[in-house]
Amino acid sequence: MADIEIRHRSARVHGMKHPLVKGFQVLWTAPNTLLGIAVGVIGLPCGTRAQWRGGCIEFYGGLVQSILRRVPPGGSSSAMTLGHTILGQSRPTLEVVREHEHVHVRQYETWGPLFLPLYLGASLVLWMRKKDPYLDNPFEIEAYAIADPRQSDNWCGPGDSDPGEVEG
Ligand SMILES: [Zn+2]
Repeated sequence: MADIEIRHRSARVHGMKHPLVKGFQVLWTAPNTLLGIAVGVIGLPCGTRAQWRGGCIEFYGGLVQSILRRVPPGGSSSAMTLGHTILGQSRPTLEVVREHEHVHVRQYETWGPLFLPLYLGASLVLWMRKKDPYLDNPFEIEAYAIADPRQSDNWCGPGDSDPGEVEG
């Protein structure tokens, strides 16, 4: 009994969030999470599938795949994170990009509704300075430093894209 209690307390100290902190993060990211859920749910009758992994709802395939193949304009994305929702081209793709996308989840938990304006604003400034609006974006630099899906043995690219086009 005492052993169980000690282990429980230890787990709380080592990385488990206080319920109030978690609750705040769910609310803080809710506008983006709901946007992601809306896109995923609209896709459900059009071949999109859903699954729950690592505290996030993931949608893949069907309409979601079609959208990701056209975002950004002229390019393609493997996956896209919106709050606690992750949109992916396929289930195998999600396996490869999940760790990278969860860095973005933590960024959303920090910045909440400010994340998308900050991300897009950074990309716009970089584009105006003739830098790469994706790979030079500070949010992507952080995410790639922690998890680079292109380094995975299982990386095979998002459908018709090559690894250089991985995005999210
Ligand atoms: Zn990313």
